[in-house]
Amino acid sequence: MKQVIIIGGGVAGLGAAYKLRRAADESHDIEFTLVEKADRLGGKLATDRVTDSQGAEYVIDGGSDSFLTQKTAVHRVARMLGIIDEECSTLDDNKKTLIVKNGGLVELPDGIMMFAPTKIVPMVTTSLYSWPAKFRMAMDLVIPRKEIVPGELNDESLEDFVVRRMGRECLDRLAEPLVGGVNGSDPGKMSLAATYPNLLEMEQEHGSLVRGFLATRKKVEEMKRKHPPKPGTRPRTFFTSFNEGLQFPTDRMADAAGRDRMRTGTAAIAVRREDDGSWSVELADGGVLSADAVIMASEVWASERLMRGVDETLADLLEQIPSTSSATVAIAFDIADCPFDLKWHGILSPRIERQTVTGVSLVSSKWPNRAPDGTVLLRAFVGGPHNQAVLDMSDDEITDIVVRQLVDLIGVKDGARPRFARVYRWENGMPQYTMGHLSRVEEIETLTAEIPGLALAGGGLRGVGVPNCLESGEAAASKVMAEWGVHLAEDTATEKRVY
Ligand SMILES: Cc1cc2nc3c(=O)[nH]c(=O)nc-3n(C[C@H](O)[C@H](O)[C@H](O)COP(=O)(O)OP(=O)(O)OC[C@H]3O[C@@H](n4cnc5c(N)ncnc54)[C@H](O)[C@@H]3O)c2cc1C
Repeated sequence: MKQVIIIGGGVAGLGAAYKLRRAADESHDIEFTLVEKADRLGGKLATDRVTDSQGAEYVIDGGSDSFLTQKTAVHRVARMLGIIDEECSTLDDNKKTLIVKNGGLVELPDGIMMFAPTKIVPMVTTSLYSWPAKFRMAMDLVIPRKEIVPGELNDESLEDFVVRRMGRECLDRLAEPLVGGVNGSDPGKMSLAATYPNLLEMEQEHGSLVRGFLATRKKVEEMKRKHPPKPGTRPRTFFTSFNEGLQFPTDRMADAAGRDRMRTGTAAIAVRREDDGSWSVELADGGVLSADAVIMASEVWASERLMRGVDETLADLLEQIPSTSSATVAIAFDIADCPFDLKWHGILSPRIERQTVTGVSLVSSKWPNRAPDGTVLLRAFVGGPHNQAVLDMSDDEITDIVVRQLVDLIGVKDGARPRFARVYRWENGMPQYTMGHLSRVEEIETLTAEIPGLALAGGGLRGVGVPNCLESGEAAASKVMAEWGVHLAEDTATEKRVY
């Protein structure tokens, strides 16, 4: 019987566990133990049911709240788990994004894809950009594509790329809060090749982002025409979640993989590769586990510390992947205290506005059944690369800042008392794909491939999105199993499937 230890019970670790369980169910002699430092499984997928002082119940996602619908890994696993019908779409009748400008709110013009305009009238009439900025953005149509140096990565930071193609105001007003903000990243340091390689490809293929996104829009519209939603079903939206929140699929993965194999509330404190090639993992509770393989699915900084005892070069490479901290604040008010338009999903606050709150989601208008009638549920984001100090404040101080900004920005009644507020802290929770990230990851993968029985997974490597992390966990399980000549029937099916 081959034994595997998985360190970390986020979506990557659980993806690995569920895959190993499927191998065991196919009669392969494989067992695993998953070790999770926290008392709860799911990592950044953290859903709570909160009851306020008046007995009303809310579904709160403290970390990740959705995944990109077009990425298939979560749907595929949800189908295997029999929970695909529990997926839910956003309430797109309320879909609107607002951008903070000079302390007020401006609606994101229709037709913007990422940060590139694809419709003329909304772009001409918007007050989001100055006239010189609009002309500068239009120059994207004539600015020649960047010359590619053959054999090189041709990477560029998000900042350099956007400023080169569309000008500084486009970066400051939209690309920074939209693209940098969701990744908790500084656009000046963020590697485009590692995060949005499609933008680099688009420039090469179409010679312009506007033309590239117009082509994308045309394709999407054609697909929608060819494949209309089945009668009686809602069309799929850009983001997907689950009725019970985003921890639901990780909970079901844990159930299916076997919770009796999972040790929560204890951290791995040391990992060693023994002379005979076996592995031992020392736990904070004094226990020592032995195995034939180890899957590292902890955050990248945690994996770095544990890999020091295994391979210094590997640990050095992991150390070069930095992370930023952030917090989300879930907060609910009586609807009577919210005398403003409730038809929007989110607000983004560019860094140049110097607000502590970098974004707000109107959860009760974005997702169905998250908050009871008569209440308004919001989620505010604080932190990010330029405001790490806010994480030193107490929960009450952070909540006070959020309430103040909700009063000033969206018009929550001054003096309104939240029905509840809860702060979720994500210390070093967002890995940063800085320039050179892809080369570092390739080196990490090469080194890991040479160490039998070791695999790395998680958001620090090839994609922070939930589907990417899930796939990375599955790939880690496949790596260790392949070393024992174990291949699952489903892998062949997956290879054949066209996504
Ligand atoms: C606030 C926030 C919002 C986000 N929103 C979205 C979103 O809407 N959509 C999206 O696609 N992505 C989003 N992301 C990113 C996404 O949630 C993460 O990239 C992903 O969930 C990471 O999964 P993971 O399994 O790699 O790591 P994690 O979820 O971080 O899991 C790692 C686990 O390892 C455990 N661990 C660490 N050290 C040890 C140790 N020594 N021993 C044992 N266990 C250990 C940790 O406790 C943790 O549970 C968001 C991230 C954050 C922080």
